[in-house]
Amino acid sequence: MTTAAKQDPLPVRVSILGATGSIGQSAVKVARLFPDRVKIVGLGANENVDALIPLIREFNPSLVAVGSETARQKLYNSLQSGIPIETGEAGLEALAVHSGADIILMGVVGAVGLKPGLAALNAGKRLALANKEPMVMAGALFSAAAAAGGGEIIPVDSEHSALFQLIAGERRDNIRRLILTASGGPFRETPLSELKKVTRAQALKHPTWEMGPKITIDSATLMNKALEIIEAHFLFGFSADEIDAVIHPQSVVHSLLETQDGAYLAHLGKTDMQVPIQYAFSHPARWITDAHRVPLWELGKLEFLPPDEKKFPALALAKATLRAGGAAPAIFSAANEIAVEAFLADKLAYLEIVPLGAKVLDKLGAPAASTLEAVLEADAAARKEAAALI
Ligand code: MG
Repeated sequence: MTTAAKQDPLPVRVSILGATGSIGQSAVKVARLFPDRVKIVGLGANENVDALIPLIREFNPSLVAVGSETARQKLYNSLQSGIPIETGEAGLEALAVHSGADIILMGVVGAVGLKPGLAALNAGKRLALANKEPMVMAGALFSAAAAAGGGEIIPVDSEHSALFQLIAGERRDNIRRLILTASGGPFRETPLSELKKVTRAQALKHPTWEMGPKITIDSATLMNKALEIIEAHFLFGFSADEIDAVIHPQSVVHSLLETQDGAYLAHLGKTDMQVPIQYAFSHPARWITDAHRVPLWELGKLEFLPPDEKKFPALALAKATLRAGGAAPAIFSAANEIAVEAFLADKLAYLEIVPLGAKVLDKLGAPAASTLEAVLEADAAARKEAAALI
């Protein structure tokens, strides 16, 4: 008999940035599944006050944040309570360093998670990171902040959660490659010649995962996988040559390791973001539940296909940004955010989304990214350049 593993203090106290988005909604389900183990102490949303109000009533957090003064007024008028309501960037930061929170769940979209993510790590928090752009922009700064503040990063992105769990069981020098699975998005079987005419509605239909609009478009272009290659590099310290993507339409295998002796170790299960969110809350424990169990035979047939690099240039570009180093990944990601916004506003064609990032990289190169200021400067330059090119 082995002795019981060290028990972590329960409940874990969680502050959620992006509570009304898809990650936030999944996190709330985990909290409902484990009312004795998860206490939500902070809730933040941008403008969706109507969705935030019932969450505040249900979980009674000690701090709330919204995007604007208008949203704050609306929330205050509805709640009529003394709960502190912060706004804007300062509000996100307040949630990230909330003294009553052990875990900060970063479920916001895009670069906006950068400063609060660093603040959480500097404050010694566990950062449950679902938002990949900050890691792509400033991966080295995130590691430095965790080391300086005593915080830790537990990835929530399903692929990285899988890799985090797989890597824990292997010696570093036993691992040959990290392999990220990609569903291939809605256009996996669409010939390149037909991608020209792709509309916003078609691109917003993801075959297996339900997610917000930005990440759904990124899944269609495989830009999401490209950003995940960069994210994996910074999270786990593997080089561009040691990280690959494979098309796996069923999204049942969440990622794999290839070992030096040619074995594949895979993480598979239900395609539901509650699973990695729960793991980020429970790590190093695993909380007992039947809620996420699936009989193996219900997982169905599993396929693995090589990615078509002509159709999906984002993967090779991601590796190129890692080889270039500095702020190249940040520039690539920022240009993509602008390109996706433009596509969603019918101002850019689908096939021009990823090439726009390449053009901006050509123009700006790989400036240094050793300080937050340098990263933000590169980010701003990339957005400006991208907007000018549209
Ligand atoms: Mg993912």
